[in-house]
Amino acid sequence: MREVCKFITGFNSFRDEYFCRENSPFQKLRKSQTPTTMVIACSDSRTDPSLIMQCEPGEIFVVRNIANIVPPYEPDAGYHGVSAAIEYAVKALKVRNIIVLGHSSCGGIRALMESKSEQEHKHEFVNKWLSALHQVRDKVLAHFTSVTDKSCIACEMAGILHSMENLMTFPWISKQVKAGELDIHGWYFNMESGQLLSYLHQTKTFEPLTSPCAQYEPAPNTVDQA
Ligand SMILES: [Zn+2]
Repeated sequence: MREVCKFITGFNSFRDEYFCRENSPFQKLRKSQTPTTMVIACSDSRTDPSLIMQCEPGEIFVVRNIANIVPPYEPDAGYHGVSAAIEYAVKALKVRNIIVLGHSSCGGIRALMESKSEQEHKHEFVNKWLSALHQVRDKVLAHFTSVTDKSCIACEMAGILHSMENLMTFPWISKQVKAGELDIHGWYFNMESGQLLSYLHQTKTFEPLTSPCAQYEPAPNTVDQA
């Protein structure tokens, strides 16, 4: 209960110092929103897109799930929460960018990588959800042969690419992308270095968009993008 009380105190501060203040962004946002960008991020407690990208309310439309997965376009009777959020962002809000935001030390990706072992049946829903990335995991493990920090990083990045590819299976997304009306970005938050990286189609690699923390010293033999 103590943890929850802290959140209520936090809301009171938010109301007084942000929501109700003069020139608060909420003065224009109380009735509607017009975000330009959708962010698909992991549910991880450390990777709040609004915090790490310093966004104001109303700037980004966010959907978060374990391992920031975009499932393929499947217009069937299932309850497709992620697809519904994507449809609303693209069709109703008419966002001009979709960012798939992955991150280092992702517990979902680690579980996926280790799911061939004893963890296979540990969770009722998580394993089924992560199975959307089984092909990705198998390709990574074929290259790295074992589950290590390095192979997990490779899988985190490959998972972002897979989600970007799945976005293009939505016919109304691929149409807008081809018409130049919508851009899809694959970003990676490296919590070791404090850097943001972006997937470059030309080089097929993740390259830094920002410099690392001033205090960051890469461990010997680590690749920049890891
Ligand atoms: Zn994660």
